[in-house]
Amino acid sequence: MSTVSRSGTMSRPRRAWRNWAGNITSRPHREISPASVDELADAVRQAAEDGRRVKAVGTGHSFTSAATTDGVLIRPELLTGIRAIDRAAGTVTVLAGTPLKRLNRALAREGLSLTNMGDIMEQTVAGATSTGTHGTGRDSGSLSAQIVGLELVTADGSVLRCSAKGTAEERAVFAAARIGIGALGVVTALTFAVEPIFLLTAREAPMSFDQVTAEFDQHVAENEHFEFYWFPHTNNCSTKRNNRSAGPEDPVGRLSGWFEDEFLSNGVFQAANSLGRAVPPAIPSIAKISSRALSARTYTDIPYKVFTSPRRVRFMEMEYAIDRSALVETLRELRAMVDRSPLRISFPVEVRTAPADDITLSTASGRETAYIAVHMYRGMPYQAYFTAAERIFTAHGGRPHWGKVHTRDAEYLASVYPRFGEFTALRDRLDPERLFGNDYLRRVLGA
Ligand SMILES: Cc1cc2nc3c(=O)[nH]c(=O)nc-3n(C[C@H](O)[C@H](O)[C@H](O)COP(=O)(O)OP(=O)(O)OC[C@H]3O[C@@H](n4cnc5c(N)ncnc54)[C@H](O)[C@@H]3O)c2cc1C
Repeated sequence: MSTVSRSGTMSRPRRAWRNWAGNITSRPHREISPASVDELADAVRQAAEDGRRVKAVGTGHSFTSAATTDGVLIRPELLTGIRAIDRAAGTVTVLAGTPLKRLNRALAREGLSLTNMGDIMEQTVAGATSTGTHGTGRDSGSLSAQIVGLELVTADGSVLRCSAKGTAEERAVFAAARIGIGALGVVTALTFAVEPIFLLTAREAPMSFDQVTAEFDQHVAENEHFEFYWFPHTNNCSTKRNNRSAGPEDPVGRLSGWFEDEFLSNGVFQAANSLGRAVPPAIPSIAKISSRALSARTYTDIPYKVFTSPRRVRFMEMEYAIDRSALVETLRELRAMVDRSPLRISFPVEVRTAPADDITLSTASGRETAYIAVHMYRGMPYQAYFTAAERIFTAHGGRPHWGKVHTRDAEYLASVYPRFGEFTALRDRLDPERLFGNDYLRRVLGA
């Protein structure tokens, strides 16, 4: 049964929480849905008094246990909406629980857009940025790299606002909290840089693995957003190049959009994966057929319609960020490993890029980055594949996505993040009692 406190905060007793992929469950002591920053701050103070830990959650799209807690779970549903749009400054301030799809649509109605985004827009703004959610870009970085101001409730219940300006401590918080993994406080609002809405032309085309790896640097240099998928057990890749366009708008036709996105990419893909799960030896043949089924197409639309698409096929995912100069060698090692092994992989491997950024624990912190993501269809054993892939990624100094499957601990992470100690020192100052701690943070940040 739900209860409503005097301030109006919804509070519910213990019930199980489960993430999108279904691999993580947690049993919070209680969960609350604050409707204002004041209510949230009260809840944090109350939890501290009760000796309970606190964890805010988004939409549970992380594959790691980053959002689990045995204490008070703060749900995002009532802390949503746009707080302010400043056209002169080119910014939007949005409450932490706002789903990215709501933000994107609201911005489009105002003639505005984010510069870059990831593959989907189901996540909340705070959840997505807390783990460093990114798309692909030559000049533009992750969602977190587009944050210009941030507000969070810290362990003593006070509200801290920070940006690249301000006191040294506020600047230190800004450097770290844009990708805070929930460790520094509960984010209540984010200010993003936005720009007048623009058009992007997407060119999707099949290409061989040999060609795409030989020309990788050239494709990255020549396109604002380049990414590709490689289909294991084949020499086939599907490439996507997105660049700004003067128009005219030429969206994916309703029928071909339905055919390519819903039927081929989701419907047929679901059927192919189910067949592969039932008959793993058939996977290489299925991969050859399905990787050829995606044909070339070009379309022009507003950014979020080009960057994102629905993902209905459930999967498990690991993603590592490596120095961009090591991409081709690392990917060739991954391919050789798959070819040598008895593994049968029905899901394509995704490759994206990001420019270096200045966020303390960003996977792109201080270096030009390429991402390699490996996936496994839900219900198929993924451990052997991910373990073998992770061995290759870590040999190249890879940094795991904070929200995707990995086995790294604080000792390893300190060796690949030059500013790791800066983050943990800030955490010691802001949350000495580990009010926002959980098992995941103990593993990746240390006690
Ligand atoms: C289908 C699918 C597609 C994806 N595509 C991409 C992609 O293209 N690029 C990419 O980089 N990642 C991608 N991801 C990963 C996903 O974007 C991240 O895991 C993201 O963190 C999920 O956001 P969420 O709102 O579900 O947050 P959750 O998973 O619920 O939480 C993530 C973290 O944020 C913390 N958190 C949430 N709210 C707050 C708050 N208010 N204050 C402080 N901490 C908070 C939680 O405690 C937790 O540590 C994808 C995942 C899925 C399942």
